Amino acid sequence: MPLLLGCIADDFTGATDLCNMLVRHGMRVVQLLELPEEPETPADVDAVTVALKIRTCPVEEARERALAALAWLRGAGARQFFFKYCSTFDSTERGNIGPVADALLDALGADFTIACPAFPETGRTVYQGHLFVGDRLLSDTHMRHHPLTPMTDSNLLRVLGRQTPHRVGLVDYAVVRRGEDAIRSRFAALRAEGVRYAVTDVLHDGHLLELGHACRDLPLVTGGSGIAMGLPDNFRAAGMLAADRRADALPAVRGQEAVLAGSCSAATLEQIRRFAAHRPAFFLDPLALAEGFDPAEVVAWAKPRLAAGPVLIHASAPPEAVRAAQEALGRERAGDLVERAMAAIARGLVEAGVRRLVVAGGETSGAVCTALGIRALRIGPQIAPGVPATVSLGHPPLALALKSGNFGGPDFFLEAFRVMP
Ligand code: ADP
Repeated sequence: MPLLLGCIADDFTGATDLCNMLVRHGMRVVQLLELPEEPETPADVDAVTVALKIRTCPVEEARERALAALAWLRGAGARQFFFKYCSTFDSTERGNIGPVADALLDALGADFTIACPAFPETGRTVYQGHLFVGDRLLSDTHMRHHPLTPMTDSNLLRVLGRQTPHRVGLVDYAVVRRGEDAIRSRFAALRAEGVRYAVTDVLHDGHLLELGHACRDLPLVTGGSGIAMGLPDNFRAAGMLAADRRADALPAVRGQEAVLAGSCSAATLEQIRRFAAHRPAFFLDPLALAEGFDPAEVVAWAKPRLAAGPVLIHASAPPEAVRAAQEALGRERAGDLVERAMAAIARGLVEAGVRRLVVAGGETSGAVCTALGIRALRIGPQIAPGVPATVSLGHPPLALALKSGNFGGPDFFLEAFRVMP
């Protein structure tokens, strides 16, 4: 079977979240961390997601990277393309959602798509073009104060309108509630008026499914991972995707187990507390690293303990300790020291026989994957919302659970090892 859906995600954990959604809806998915030289994908893959890091980089760089990913996915034979951004539409006055979507549409020779960040499962809904998080307008939430992408306007027509020279229109609730055919007629009408982007009202998953079905013939769809739930059905209806397929099967990976945590989020701190009550834990202190502490010592500490079950290594610390380390070392240096040490420890652990790894923290996950030379992940069953179990392609295969700091319940670390193959 050829590749069906080619996806481009503007950040790493967003890519994983999208893959998780597609697998839940019956597609077999591989996530690429780097573009391979050859446009070859494993034979049994329905969708590929390229995980980029273009949410806040300069516009020109974002465009170029997205176009390189698109070219690769086209070369691999993808039938339809998806541009994934955050369900809170994280972007600045200039981009990068508008400029990247414009570049992708131009490259595909297309003139119309939707902009659909809605994800009701996580409280993100859109009404009359306004994005809500739970019961509040986006601009009345913490996103207003985001350090990189402050969202001070909830009107997506205005927000996107500032990022593109093209016209932005609305498929409102009155149309969406009438279903696929009504939505498609509205698409045609907007297109005839010269509208390039249709912001779509969505209040619940049923709307996402109808919208997804209405997007059957669009070369490019843009949105959060919610809208991806309706897309696999289109391929099933066309006979391109088996109806009864189990999409989350992963090869078994045997070996020792470890958790690496670099996230200092509240959820991760609680997960560490719960795990450390049962299993050995090592605190990797950035201040000690600055004084020359050798990460090899952590690997030496872990080795004799691994046979009895998973061990935890964490730099994660409560806010006061993080502040103290940042004041002493500078924010960037503290983060850098920890990320480098985690990378070295991950390598040492894999050399020692660890094959099953849980990593907490988006940046930390990126550092660990790079250190281990991981370029692609096959996506398996969900451990917690937005976090699937995965297995790396390449040698040796590693079972991995990579979670952004705030994800997962208090016993995530133990649950992860149960769900991992
Ligand atoms: P999250 O997904 O929660 O944002 P990340 O891994 O992306 O987690 O980011 C956490 C950052 O904090 C990393 O750069 C990490 O190296 C850094 N860090 C971890 N522990 C400490 C600490 N004790 N002091 C200062 N910085 C830390």
